[in-house]
Amino acid sequence: MQPVNTCAIETAGAVFPAERIELLRQRVDEGISRSLSWRLDQLEGLLRFLADNEDAILAALKADLGRCTTEARMADISMVRSEVRLIRRNLKKWLRPHRVSTPIAAQPGRSWIQQEPFGLALILGTWNYPFQQVLIPLAGALAAGNSAVVKLSEVAPHSAALMAEQLEKYIDRTALVVVTGGPEAATRLLENRFDKIFYTGSSHVGRIVMKAAAAYLTPVTLELGGKNPVIVAADAPLAVAARRVAWGRFMNAGQICVAPDYVLIDESRRLPFIEALRDAIARFYGLDPKNSESYGRIVDQHHFERLLGLMQNGRIAIGGETEAAERYIAPTVLTDVPDGAAALEEEIFGPILPVVGYRTLDEGLAIIRTRPKPLALYLFTEDRSLQERVIRDIGCGSVVVNDVVVNQIVPGLPFGGVGNSGMGSFHGRFTFEAFSHSKAVVKRALWADLDVRYPPFSDWKDRILQWLISV
Ligand code: NAD
Repeated sequence: MQPVNTCAIETAGAVFPAERIELLRQRVDEGISRSLSWRLDQLEGLLRFLADNEDAILAALKADLGRCTTEARMADISMVRSEVRLIRRNLKKWLRPHRVSTPIAAQPGRSWIQQEPFGLALILGTWNYPFQQVLIPLAGALAAGNSAVVKLSEVAPHSAALMAEQLEKYIDRTALVVVTGGPEAATRLLENRFDKIFYTGSSHVGRIVMKAAAAYLTPVTLELGGKNPVIVAADAPLAVAARRVAWGRFMNAGQICVAPDYVLIDESRRLPFIEALRDAIARFYGLDPKNSESYGRIVDQHHFERLLGLMQNGRIAIGGETEAAERYIAPTVLTDVPDGAAALEEEIFGPILPVVGYRTLDEGLAIIRTRPKPLALYLFTEDRSLQERVIRDIGCGSVVVNDVVVNQIVPGLPFGGVGNSGMGSFHGRFTFEAFSHSKAVVKRALWADLDVRYPPFSDWKDRILQWLISV
């Protein structure tokens, strides 16, 4: 594999498009985005952006992350396309008012829920899936009738440059502004009033975003990171568990928010499991993963050095080879990681997997419970009662039994964290809902206007009112 292109595209210091953003607000307030046909046109635009720019998207992902074509097409093109198509197919239905029953106290009358756009949305994207993490929320924002300012991540500069140059051409230009630049651009944007903020990135910056949103009481969706544990229970077949864990951990060189972050396994099976991981890694990437077309690179020098530090946190059982010029880190398995080490406390977000042995399953579960709630939890077992116990008792964004990562591709499920791993969710209908306000409407008839609810009150009014409210 060729070294990834390390030349930086200058995105910092981009001109802040204050006037254009003001225009977005004006136009959305005037109602340009209210009709179904306008919304469907914008979704068509997103699909055309993907079709027209497919090769350029793949090249940008190769340059930013050394991402192989198959994974890049799967995650940043096909998955986005399928989410946009799902929204397009269902939008008319989702926009229909949803009737609810009206109690006697509000009769004669009708009640319903109607979806209303928030107005002007701000979408702050991250770099590990730079297209997917921006385009899926954008589809939801436009489908829900919002206009949007999209701030791209500076950490994936080729992907950002492509979207900055192309995306606006496919969308109503009075409904979308694409902004590049780093934290300074995000900070500047956050000083302004938005009606909805959708942020993807670290929990640390999530707090900064939420604080800024508080100034205007702007609702936020925070798609944050997490330390996703894997429990390999006593009955789980090691070969298939190791294969699935290695697939999820080393895809995109481990730079996935839902990647398995550490493995908990009975101490007696720790070494056989590590051997099964060794076998899976060799089958996926060969004996020298640096030469594999299917293996990616670390996005930048900062993250490369951070990961080198984490590799010192224990004994390297597999991998450990690095090459700074390419920002290459081999698929690495750590063992004997001491309690309290950074590799067991911080999100790894790279191709390093600590395997931790426990003496009893309860001890393993306690390790998860004492940490902040993860984005995803993975459990390998066929024991139904253990499955039910873990699903019921451990707080987290999602649970997958006997696999990893696939919670992302089930469109009927909300995708999102809880607590430290996030707030709110998206994917499928949930993306539309993230950008919609459920407006409650009650419509009463004027012809019946009973005296009973009006003062002055009396015993008989009191009795009737109590009854009306309680039925
Ligand atoms: P980050 O928080 O550093 O950056 C994300 C965005 O925030 C960028 O647009 C960046 O410019 C901006 N930003 C950075 N510093 C800022 C500051 N001080 N003030 C305002 N804005 C600032 O996140 P990252 O390191 O790029 O992304 C990795 C994290 O994202 C990981 O924790 C990963 O798990 C998480 N992630 C979560 C999901 C999800 O769907 N839950 C998906 C992908 C990534």
